[in-house]
Amino acid sequence: MTGELPRPEPVVSPEARRFWEATGEQRLRLQRCSECAAVVWYPRGICPDCSSSNLDWFEASGRGLVYSFTINHRGTGPYEGIGPYILAYVELEEGPRMLTNIVDCDSEKLRIGQLVEVRFADTGTGTALVRFTPVETVADG
Ligand SMILES: [Zn+2]
Repeated sequence: MTGELPRPEPVVSPEARRFWEATGEQRLRLQRCSECAAVVWYPRGICPDCSSSNLDWFEASGRGLVYSFTINHRGTGPYEGIGPYILAYVELEEGPRMLTNIVDCDSEKLRIGQLVEVRFADTGTGTALVRFTPVETVADG
């Protein structure tokens, strides 16, 4: 479960260009609506809450909680044949839930509500994939 996951190059849409540029600098950037203050994920041109096109970028904390997860035994595409890996929704501190992988993690110990922080997996093309790893706390164990 701790094997290295593939690092496929992302398809970068114009709306997501600034997100991917930031990942290449090991930074997690999200959009926030200037009209209604909604935090927007995934990157897009129009606020999903109020339809405003006034979206600004800001740097997120990179922390969140495991909202849900599954252990995937049958990867496809670049993930085919790599063995079990963790697919999860992480609820970011800023609110949105991001579909991601949990890495550097004992799956037996992972739990809903676990505090996690971002890890950047460099694709070698100026971008990095956003993954998360558990943050150990004194209450663990
Ligand atoms: Zn809005």
